[in-house]
Amino acid sequence: MIWEQVLTRLKDKITEEGFNTWFKPTRLIERRNGVLLVEVPNPFFAEWIEEYYGKILTDIMTEVSSDGLRVAFHSRKVEPDAARPRFIRKRVIYTQNGSRLQERYTFKDFIVGESNRFAHAASLAVAEAPSEVYNPLFLYGGVGLGKTHLVQAIGNYIARTGPKLSVAYIPAETLFIELIDAVEKGTRMEFKNRYRSKDILLIDDIHFLKGKESLQEEIFHLFNHLYEGGKQVVLTCDRPPREIPTLEDRLASRFSGGLVVDIQPPDLETRIAILLRKAESEDQALPRDVAYYIASRIRSNIRELEGALIKLLALSSLTGRGLTTSLADEVLSDLLRNRPRTTPNRIAKHVARGFNVKVDEMKGRRRTAPLALARQSAMYLVRKLLNFSLKEIGRYFGGKDHTTVLHAIDKISRLREEDLTFKEKLMGIEQRINRG
Ligand code: ADP
Ligand code: MG
Repeated sequence: MIWEQVLTRLKDKITEEGFNTWFKPTRLIERRNGVLLVEVPNPFFAEWIEEYYGKILTDIMTEVSSDGLRVAFHSRKVEPDAARPRFIRKRVIYTQNGSRLQERYTFKDFIVGESNRFAHAASLAVAEAPSEVYNPLFLYGGVGLGKTHLVQAIGNYIARTGPKLSVAYIPAETLFIELIDAVEKGTRMEFKNRYRSKDILLIDDIHFLKGKESLQEEIFHLFNHLYEGGKQVVLTCDRPPREIPTLEDRLASRFSGGLVVDIQPPDLETRIAILLRKAESEDQALPRDVAYYIASRIRSNIRELEGALIKLLALSSLTGRGLTTSLADEVLSDLLRNRPRTTPNRIAKHVARGFNVKVDEMKGRRRTAPLALARQSAMYLVRKLLNFSLKEIGRYFGGKDHTTVLHAIDKISRLREEDLTFKEKLMGIEQRINRG
């Protein structure tokens, strides 16, 4: 049975705990019209799976079926119980080639704070008057800070309120896949026309362009075509245009030609507000002290913040326990497992051990090949696990320049993709760091 096949493959790819918690309780209901309808205990499961296992599920679905099968989750009916809302909801969590706008990303649901005020204002201005204010609009910031949310909010706003303007949202990665596909199938013209005919083009995560010349070329022409035709372009990225390595100058200057705005990690008040709003949208009354408790422990990534809340709601609804700080504590300690204790020192120590060098040497100036690789890996992990700024990382590793750090992070990300042995080594080190 196909769902069992999917589960068997999943089991090999994710942690046992993750599998037992989130996938064991699932059950295939039916397969109809290219959709696998899978039952989950409650709607939070669907959200959690989408957020954390969406990508891997997509990959596995592609492995086990070639005919564009989708998965939809259906939550079990909760017994009518006065204290608890009834959930009978269906959510499609994944569509093959799915790159459409998701309805939930709206301006209304976007909480504004100091960290994102300007990005929000600029996005709203673009949504209200496409092609008239900032073109292109370039939003950049770290992982999980709301870039996709904002860019899709622009799309949703225009799709709902605008006159008949056509909007397309597409992650750069998907664009790349479509491009390759078009080249292989000899349908390049169709590919071009698909996006050239849009009034508003939203391209997400364009840091994916680095090192992909064919895609850069394509985007350059697409961009010029749209721009000259008075169409609106919005781009998101994890860094400003000039810091995307191997991005052609002409593209970088195109990207910088409109408005470039950053999104910073949210402050405590904003994090609390996000949690309260999210709970409210799930019809759950989250006590403020619990929101405070979660927000004070998850600082730099809104996706994780939401993840913690969803897990808390799921657990509470499964066990019937109330939404208290003590339940939150269980969820967080499970989720963060020793993460608060993760420090640059701890990372440096484990990396040094893994690469057989000394911590002091990593902070020093010597640049023999093994030492450089260890140093770069440590920089990469500090960025990934602690979200330190490039400057802070440079300072920690003996006063290195932020461009050196950026180079290190890029090099290691690339190596991780290209070299499986290296990737496994790094993952092993990461696990040891997280284990405490
Ligand atoms: P990014 O694209 O920058 O990695 P996302 O836009 O995917 O981040 O945001 C991660 C999650 O956090 C999403 O579920 C999004 O809805 C939520 N989120 C981000 N910023 C806000 C905000 N200011 N208010 C409410 N939710 C937010
Ligand atoms: Mg995103």
